[in-house]
Amino acid sequence: MKKTIRDVNLKDKKVLIRVDFNVPMKNGVITNDNRIVQALPTINYALENGAKVILFSHLGRVKEEADKAANSLAPVAKRLEELLNKKVYFVPTTRGKELEDAVNNMKVGDVVMFENTRWEDVPDKKESKNNPELGAYWASLGDVFVNDAFGTAHRAHASNAGIAANIKDSVAGFLMEKEIKFIGDAVDNPVRPFVAILGGAKVSDKISVIENLLTKADKILICGAMAYTFYKAQGWEVGTSKCEDDFVEFAKGLLEKANGKIVLPCDTVVSDKFPEDGDVIVKKTVASNAIPADMMGLDVGMGTIELFKKELQGAKTVVWNGPAGVFEVKEFAVGTNAICEALAELEGATTIIGGGDSASAAIKLGYEKKFTHISTGGGASLEYLEGKELPGVACINDK
Ligand code: ADP
Ligand code: MG
Repeated sequence: MKKTIRDVNLKDKKVLIRVDFNVPMKNGVITNDNRIVQALPTINYALENGAKVILFSHLGRVKEEADKAANSLAPVAKRLEELLNKKVYFVPTTRGKELEDAVNNMKVGDVVMFENTRWEDVPDKKESKNNPELGAYWASLGDVFVNDAFGTAHRAHASNAGIAANIKDSVAGFLMEKEIKFIGDAVDNPVRPFVAILGGAKVSDKISVIENLLTKADKILICGAMAYTFYKAQGWEVGTSKCEDDFVEFAKGLLEKANGKIVLPCDTVVSDKFPEDGDVIVKKTVASNAIPADMMGLDVGMGTIELFKKELQGAKTVVWNGPAGVFEVKEFAVGTNAICEALAELEGATTIIGGGDSASAAIKLGYEKKFTHISTGGGASLEYLEGKELPGVACINDK
């Protein structure tokens, strides 16, 4: 068990909180503030418990000096001020006298936020390569470290692992705690039957996820483009569908190892071309072993949905990664939508989505509130599903 913000005394302490404020922005305007909203419980808890709150996050990629201005956290500080209904003292730098003075002058209940941690990536990638001097410097600004940035927990950066290595108390914030609890428990300690649904673009992206879940789940339902590599491994033709020929042998090996645990779609929705805006397409549903040579599979068919529903009956834990089809195009979002629906109707089950595109698909299709947990960290949740230890989690003290 990891220590959380509840396990430390925050009163009169300078509390360094690593948040994930890597919000989408267009021309300096925040287009979705969900990540800021998700951090509020931790920030408010610290304030209510007498802390001086120092916030920091990365934002976008900063490769050269010219990237800094476009990736400033200043607009985020403004939005946070509105959400907290409280002054946020924004320090437009990542180190030096201005920052140190701001921190040293804080009173209980104050909130200071400093610039994008990735500004330190110019030069020498100090943040992203976990430069020891930088982690020690940031740690020296506070008394307690709270890591609430699950989205970057799969990376050892100065702003998570670096600080934790140089401070006595490193604890999880509420968002981090929630992610560890749901994804961690689902994978390592699932209430059974445990069914995994794996889709998305490529088998090659998900090798470790499939291998890890094969040892943990009771059933694995395969969909998305990655199904076609498995089709080929079965000796079925895939037409012009996405298929990774280099991984057919690997898929064959998995099917043998799986001993019936892996369930493939029984039908697929095919089209004569990958639809671009306004294209007129020819679309039909065919059996999985009957894809015409000149057509491509872009979604699972309704037969597959019925098959998956049967497999899901009685499941107590379901983890889903990877959309069932090209959900970005309405005609091929049907399968992904039907999986959302099936999981929403599943009674008494813990349902979890891990994966960037799967999470945005479920949210886009209106199912945000219907899952037990939708992970906020695409890459981080995937690595969790792979069974890897995440540096940003490992650096939090155990209870
Ligand atoms: P996640 O981010 O949830 O891990 P991935 O990144 O692996 O998911 O895959 C998401 C992408 O897979 C989506 O852009 C979707 O359009 C694509 N995809 C799903 N099914 C197909 C298919 N049959 N053909 C081509 N692309 C597909
Ligand atoms: Mg993705």
